[in-house]
Amino acid sequence: MTEHSALIQRRQRLLGRSYRLFYQQPLYPVKGEGVWLYEADGKRYLDAYNNVVSVGHCHPRVVEAICQQAAQLNTHTRYLHDSILDYAERLLALFPDVLNNLTLTCSGSEANDLALRIAREVTGNRIALVTRWAYHGTTSSIAELSPSLGVGVSDQVRLIDAPDTFRAPGQWLQQLRQVLDQMAAEGLRPAALMMDGLFSSDGIFSPPAAEIQQAVNWVRQAGGVYIADEVQSGFARTGDDFWGFCRYQLVPDLVTLGKPMGNGHPVAGLVARSDLLDLFGERQRYFNTFGGNPVSCCAAAAVLDVIESEHLQVNARIQGQRLGRQLNDLAQRHEVIGDIRGAGLFYGVELVKDRNSLAPATALASRVVNGMREAGVLISATGPDANVLKIRPPLVFTAEHVELLSDTLDQVLTRLS
Ligand code: PMP
Repeated sequence: MTEHSALIQRRQRLLGRSYRLFYQQPLYPVKGEGVWLYEADGKRYLDAYNNVVSVGHCHPRVVEAICQQAAQLNTHTRYLHDSILDYAERLLALFPDVLNNLTLTCSGSEANDLALRIAREVTGNRIALVTRWAYHGTTSSIAELSPSLGVGVSDQVRLIDAPDTFRAPGQWLQQLRQVLDQMAAEGLRPAALMMDGLFSSDGIFSPPAAEIQQAVNWVRQAGGVYIADEVQSGFARTGDDFWGFCRYQLVPDLVTLGKPMGNGHPVAGLVARSDLLDLFGERQRYFNTFGGNPVSCCAAAAVLDVIESEHLQVNARIQGQRLGRQLNDLAQRHEVIGDIRGAGLFYGVELVKDRNSLAPATALASRVVNGMREAGVLISATGPDANVLKIRPPLVFTAEHVELLSDTLDQVLTRLS
């Protein structure tokens, strides 16, 4: 029995069984502010997990922008409105010049779905390449590109290894080469390689730039395009750059955005080379009722305002470095930490049974995530074995929050391992 068992039963009865809750004792927050979530009794939790509210829960500037525009007008993109154009100008200025068109959607899944449609249309090919434990979204076509959902892979998809810098550095490239050669032998060409900037579901990896460049070159030579899924790694999260793909020093053909774009308001999008979008637009039409509405555009613009005015990209870099140092310090004392990796304020801490076998410590990771929650700090776990602690706080994290997170992790690991 959990604390909220009546509520949980009501959820199951009303919402059905495919919803999943986090934590053995699910969280029941009633208020959010900055990096904190509060339950009704006033207990507060340090949010070190939620990358959607990347400028902090309920940031007043974003809330105000939403309220003001909602009180003025909200409608669709088949009428003229400045907000979408003002936002497009600002956003596109943050991209390399060739990426010069924006389409707005309501979710990252829709953005990926559109990217795939465009890729298939402009290349004339059908097959998409994705990493073995990727997650790219919920639509039927994108669920097929999200093997971590367990939907099953169709003949329109080929799985490639993730660039596992811990267990098998560089090996994924050999496997990708084999996949492409096999396809060529069957007379097949790829439409796209879709990759998450930090391979979040695969276990959080940040491989050398040369590896990603090689992979993208091969796919382009075979006739496909590179879709950078920036839903998790975008909007200053990685600290050094505004976009995750910048780490790899190459320019994608299509970039998809979401999660932190509206700080919780559902706005997402696709940034594309205009030559690709022109070709697609000549043959197909795209309309999204809610995508690009003025309220969403104002929310998204306010998020950019806050990232800029509060220097959150620099903060992500500085606090990310601090967090990295603290985690490496913990690894000196806790044998169960096999590897620490990530960028900016996005870290994976891989737990292993021992450092020789590197066997994944899956059960321990689950106990640590739940232990942290009991101790008032929210994190999660990722990867095919769910043994990689996923630490991805709002970008307004301060030194004090980093200390609290690492001290709590230290105590929980000491108690549990
Ligand atoms: N791509 C990635 C990398 C994601 O993490 C997610 C969401 N977890 C999506 C796409 C889909 O985004 P949404 O849930 O907004 O549809």
